[in-house]
Amino acid sequence: MKYFDYTSTTKPHPEVISTYTKLLQEYYGNADSLHQLGQKTHKLMEKSRAQIAQLLSIYSDEIIFTSGASEANNTAIKGYAFANQHKGKHLITSKIEHSSVRECFKQLEQVFGFEVTYLDVDETGSVTKESVEQALRKDTILVSIMHVNNETGAIHDIVGISEAVHTKSRACFHVDCVQSFTKLDIPFDKIDLASMSAHKIYGLKGSGLLYKKRNVTILPLINGGQQEMGLRGGTSSALENIVLAKTIRLALEQKERMREHCEKLRCYFVEQIQNEIVGVCINSPSHGIANIINISIPKVTSEVMLNALDQRGFCVSAYSTCSSKTKKGSHVLAAMGMSQERIERAIRISFSLHTTFDEVDELVATLKEINEIYGTK
Ligand code: PMP
Repeated sequence: MKYFDYTSTTKPHPEVISTYTKLLQEYYGNADSLHQLGQKTHKLMEKSRAQIAQLLSIYSDEIIFTSGASEANNTAIKGYAFANQHKGKHLITSKIEHSSVRECFKQLEQVFGFEVTYLDVDETGSVTKESVEQALRKDTILVSIMHVNNETGAIHDIVGISEAVHTKSRACFHVDCVQSFTKLDIPFDKIDLASMSAHKIYGLKGSGLLYKKRNVTILPLINGGQQEMGLRGGTSSALENIVLAKTIRLALEQKERMREHCEKLRCYFVEQIQNEIVGVCINSPSHGIANIINISIPKVTSEVMLNALDQRGFCVSAYSTCSSKTKKGSHVLAAMGMSQERIERAIRISFSLHTTFDEVDELVATLKEINEIYGTK
């Protein structure tokens, strides 16, 4: 099997798996129990929180462990909106956010009476600092813009947007950092709330975290207990939280190697695909993150292409995996103004440190073969 779907998820690092399975035997105590078994688990979980804080240069009490980034996004966006609605009910986001962000805003708009501005993107698929500036109002309380787009790899100018938000308004700035986490530097000092996930960085599914600056107030969405400073009730997934520190450390250790390798792979892939398939369109911006490349194959629709690739042992996605069953096509490429035909033929390929040039050659040859076979039918 040739895996080109690292943006959807990754295989857990062997060290993460071995630590997790080892700890399962011994650290099954409830982290909130007062007996020794519980306290032993609690201590290790808090050690992990402190290690993560150190790795990210933030404070321990700015970390809220969650079940992943969807929960972190919901907690940040709805939790902040609910807690701060007395200051205003206007919110800003973009048209290219992940469904876990987009659906929060839709719900706040449709059920809870907030007003939402959905910002357009430029031709490279990015929200500009200027468009954020223009949309800010006196009653804007929250701006949420993702760091890296999961479909195209477009990178946002988080520092610039943060400057606009913080100098021109009193709004809070949330960033979905799922696709940049451990791959790019995240300027936490410029961000009020940030969401991250473990399974995108060779960690466990059902694990993630929300960064919340000390002075930012949110309402808990899961009421229930004292866990996570009262902001996320429920018995702690202590072991997932414990191995998250190791997951992040391992991912950060390979950050530069991964970037260099993926840049070479991406360059090579683009060159090869343009040589081999006449009329192929590159949908990702040239300065996007190195591990994601989105293309449209001229003669074959995404669905046919993915099935044909799957039959030949290749794992690739069309667009966001969390919306893959909606069949509506990519809202991201639509926001970039692409034609329906181009959107219907888009596929997303993602690389990792494990991807080889031989695998890229095989992928290009297979894409060419499928384009020729199915294109003539
Ligand atoms: N945001 C982005 C940009 C994503 O790519 C994803 C995962 N597809 C999520 C949020 C949701 O993350 P999780 O799977 O951890 O809920």
